[in-house]
Amino acid sequence: MVSTLPVVERFHSLQGEGAHAGRSAFFIRLASCNVRCSWCDTKNSWSENESPQESIVNLSKEVAKARSNGAAFVVITGGEPLHHNLSPLCDEIRKVTKQQNRTPISIHLETSGVDPITGNPDWISLSPKRHAPPRLDLLKACKELKVVVHEKEDLIFAEKVAKKTRSFKKPLLFLQPGWQNTEGQKLAFEYVKRNSQWRLSMQTHKWLGIL
Ligand code: SF4
Repeated sequence: MVSTLPVVERFHSLQGEGAHAGRSAFFIRLASCNVRCSWCDTKNSWSENESPQESIVNLSKEVAKARSNGAAFVVITGGEPLHHNLSPLCDEIRKVTKQQNRTPISIHLETSGVDPITGNPDWISLSPKRHAPPRLDLLKACKELKVVVHEKEDLIFAEKVAKKTRSFKKPLLFLQPGWQNTEGQKLAFEYVKRNSQWRLSMQTHKWLGIL
């Protein structure tokens, strides 16, 4: 039974991206990612060995404390969090926060979708990558699809993945310009203007210069 996970950082802030942007959330950033996007902004999360192993029990207590201080949900992110079995962490978070407030806190997961789902998250934000396409179970289960745009090929990829999700739950569709990528900003802006099923996701935390 997993009792610890490698944690790069955890913090209470506002969700900066996607459908829940602007809401208070507690973030747990797990280490390890083999997807290796060239433009990754969290390369410090790639290696599992450089981050301390943290106790799942303690992390769950921190989630409960953040909830007392206003967090509406917890976000498990990375890295690629599904490289790990998330069931023990999610079960413990649900147990502790249910004891605290009768209803367990909502658990959000941010993933590229290359591994099977574990932990039964309440909200899945799928951010698939062109060089490592997502698994079918993630396409079926995601509630938002968020494609990062740097160049035209990303828009083609976004439509291809969106088409695959449409026969399932029809997630909210977001295009998110790569950070400080002028070409990506123009492409995403113009595409969303002409295609009403898509929305623009901006990394508001970066614009505001906060975590
Ligand atoms: S999947 Fe996410 S964490 Fe992993 S390399 Fe790509 S952007 Fe970075």
